[in-house]
Amino acid sequence: MLIRNFRQGRIIFARLDHGEDIIRQFTILAEENGIETGALCAVGALSRAILACYDQKSHEYGKITLNEPVELASCSGNISLKDGRPFVHAHAVLSDRMGRTWGGHLISGNIFAAEVYLQELSGGLPLKRVPDSVTGLYLWGNE
Ligand code: ZN
Repeated sequence: MLIRNFRQGRIIFARLDHGEDIIRQFTILAEENGIETGALCAVGALSRAILACYDQKSHEYGKITLNEPVELASCSGNISLKDGRPFVHAHAVLSDRMGRTWGGHLISGNIFAAEVYLQELSGGLPLKRVPDSVTGLYLWGNE
């Protein structure tokens, strides 16, 4: 188990830009505010999105493409460093007008509207993502 302790830093609320990609906007928000470690939540709506489920045997993401407007019913994620830059890892639950839901690793999403709560974490050693041979993922490492 890898454990790091942090103190709460700034809390940032942001309205993201219509038509932009949500993961890119999360990343810009972190970069422009100098946040290397943090936690985020978001709600809103996307005009289309790509979710994914990681195949634990093949070590590849199976994509779920939603080419329709959906609610961003829930989105949570974190920010840490990968290759020295802020990297966003987010998961989402998306719903359609009948309330049907899809969930998974959030690859991308075109923003219709999105509101973000971003909690900066500071005072600890930065979390850095490194390749993990067991899972095939970039996980937090002891660097
Ligand atoms: Zn994920």
